[in-house]
Amino acid sequence: MPEAVEQLLLPAECLLCRALLSFADSSRLVCDVCRHRWRPVRPPWCPRCGQPEPLFGRCRLCAEWPTAFGVARSAVWLDAGAREAVHALKYGGLPRIATELATAMAGLELPGIDSAWLVPVPLGRARLRTRGYNQSERLARALGRRWRRPVVDLLVRTRDTAAQTALTPEARLANVAGAFQVRIGDCGLRISSERLKSAIRNPKSTIILVDDVFTTSATLAEAARALERAGAGTVSAVTFGRALVPDFT
Ligand SMILES: [Zn+2]
Ligand SMILES: [Zn+2]
Repeated sequence: MPEAVEQLLLPAECLLCRALLSFADSSRLVCDVCRHRWRPVRPPWCPRCGQPEPLFGRCRLCAEWPTAFGVARSAVWLDAGAREAVHALKYGGLPRIATELATAMAGLELPGIDSAWLVPVPLGRARLRTRGYNQSERLARALGRRWRRPVVDLLVRTRDTAAQTALTPEARLANVAGAFQVRIGDCGLRISSERLKSAIRNPKSTIILVDDVFTTSATLAEAARALERAGAGTVSAVTFGRALVPDFT
């Protein structure tokens, strides 16, 4: 159903808690109560990975990142309210909620946004088939509209990886090792392969990876590694949620 028609026919309700939205808010998808439960990630943080500063020593979360992976930022902590929102996006069949999540991400500050391309972290084929869409791609498109930056489907998963949630940090690393590849043809841009390759290598271009959640950063680091292998000089990442306590000991 086209959105305008849907709005006329159905009383607008919050996608998360089903509360009816006031007339003034009827174009929104998430009510104020739900949105205010999202807790922004704020400094002080590690300047690179955006994780709250370790009490002593250097940050271990980003120590093993590939050189090209510069900065990662997340909009909100993944506690109760935000977890529901991500769940609705991934498992609730509600890709439209990406608009609300991207609104929370739009205020994130990263170097090079003005010249960046947004690259969604891809899903494996099997998962894409069951879900019907890639939630990170929906987020990237919604964020691209806010930032007025292009979205380029530059990465593919070379194999279906096990769901990261059930794995220990070491297993997460092994699980995603070599899981991504840069795809030059068929990335959604109407430019030649040669031009695309040189655009990736252009030191002035910034690639911003977009994903729903930052947990141990194993997936983002591996995606950044694939881009680095293709010659990318600067890769950043943004996510909607950040896991509260990444256990990377
Ligand atoms: Zn609500
Ligand atoms: Zn760090």
